[in-house]
Amino acid sequence: MTVDWKSQIKGLTERGAEYADVRYYPKQEEDLKFMWNGNFLAFNRSEESGFGVRVLVDGAWGFAASSNMSSPAETFDRAFANAKAAATRVKRPIRLADKEVLSGRFESPCAIDPFEVPMAEQVALMRDLDSYINQKGIMQRRVMLSTVRKTIQYYDSEGAEIEKHIVEIFPTIHVASFDDVGMMQGRKYRAPRLADSRGWETMDREHWKNEAERIVSEVRQLVESPKCPEGIMSVILLPEIMYLQVHETIGHALELDRILGYELSYAGGSFVRLDDFGSLQYGSPKLNARADATLINSPGSFGFDDDGVAAQNRMIIKDGILVGAITSRQMVAEANERTGRKIFDGSGGTCRACAFYRFPIERMTNINVDPGHDGTLEDIISNTQRGVILAGDKSWSIGSNREQFHFSTDIGWYVEDGECKGVIKDCAYSGKTLEFYRSLTAVGDESTWEVQYVDNCGKGAPGQTMQLGHGVPVCRFDNVKVGE
Ligand SMILES: [Zn+2]
Repeated sequence: MTVDWKSQIKGLTERGAEYADVRYYPKQEEDLKFMWNGNFLAFNRSEESGFGVRVLVDGAWGFAASSNMSSPAETFDRAFANAKAAATRVKRPIRLADKEVLSGRFESPCAIDPFEVPMAEQVALMRDLDSYINQKGIMQRRVMLSTVRKTIQYYDSEGAEIEKHIVEIFPTIHVASFDDVGMMQGRKYRAPRLADSRGWETMDREHWKNEAERIVSEVRQLVESPKCPEGIMSVILLPEIMYLQVHETIGHALELDRILGYELSYAGGSFVRLDDFGSLQYGSPKLNARADATLINSPGSFGFDDDGVAAQNRMIIKDGILVGAITSRQMVAEANERTGRKIFDGSGGTCRACAFYRFPIERMTNINVDPGHDGTLEDIISNTQRGVILAGDKSWSIGSNREQFHFSTDIGWYVEDGECKGVIKDCAYSGKTLEFYRSLTAVGDESTWEVQYVDNCGKGAPGQTMQLGHGVPVCRFDNVKVGE
């Protein structure tokens, strides 16, 4: 059954709505397969279809969603009634920053759609990945493959008409063993985005075989390795942990809704204040970070956000100074209004919902750190007096305002007098966000830069899980507290 979405939206504006939009998902499919020690433990497939209506009436949002396509007008009515009810309580009328009204289509790059690959072939690939890690000395092995395919049509009362077709693939292998004191030591590999694609063709067996051999060898070394030293020293973060550092202490800290105080119920504040933009020294002058939704091979790129704003590539930290945030039309308008100055020039295009029945909120796109001029990983090591190289997120704990953090990692390597001295286990480091980024003393070149993906970023109430990416180089920070 075809619904005339534009006339439904027109009906809302004719009744007095200031703005309205609808997101229609003809289909959103998710597939998760999980193997543990060679046995399939999960084989989940889900499909959803429906639409969500967002309407602004008398300065308040109303939202309603349905998967029943036979009487869409009821859902539009419900959204309108919800806005009317909310408007009686609203203290600050919601306004939306101006946008360029666009129509267009976005398709994520994918030569082979994983949903078109026969199940037998997918299972065979997973069995092959399992065979690569089924090696002597490995006690636990996991292979995970999660894929997503969705089509979203978007229409709004300002005239935008957008269609998005997005395919994602998230593969992971994980190996673990026990050391001499019975502690588990593990390594995992989530393929960074090497090719300009997000499709099945990225699952190159040769590549996975090599990486599997590497992590197996690392676990064998880990179980026999000394513990991480404790003390104040340099840390060299490989992209495999740098991405999470950036995610938690730049990405989440710079979501404008958090900065305005909206996500507090979900441990979601930020130490950043509106006055900080343009002046706060977030990091050393070597720190350049951007919100880049134009990185073609990453899940943080989606063409247009759920405000109908086009994907952008904006600096958020320039030469160490805070210059931007992760923004939507609503939050930009409110921030500029609260301060009486134009801190933000239009929306950064980061408003996204995880499903048709969720309300769009500010979500990270690809929060990247630019490569620097301090050479390769080897160059950085050779210039380091004493420190540890760290990789692989094991556990993390972040202050609710993102002002401090503690990370432990799967693996480390001890560095002394410019030389790597071998593997160390039970590695951890901690710090205060600003102090830490201000102690950034080396940023690796293009050869060290990788796009790591995040497939399970949680935010909002009710909760929304979102996918995005982080393109990051190897970075060295000095005078960091290392050890448990
Ligand atoms: Zn997150």
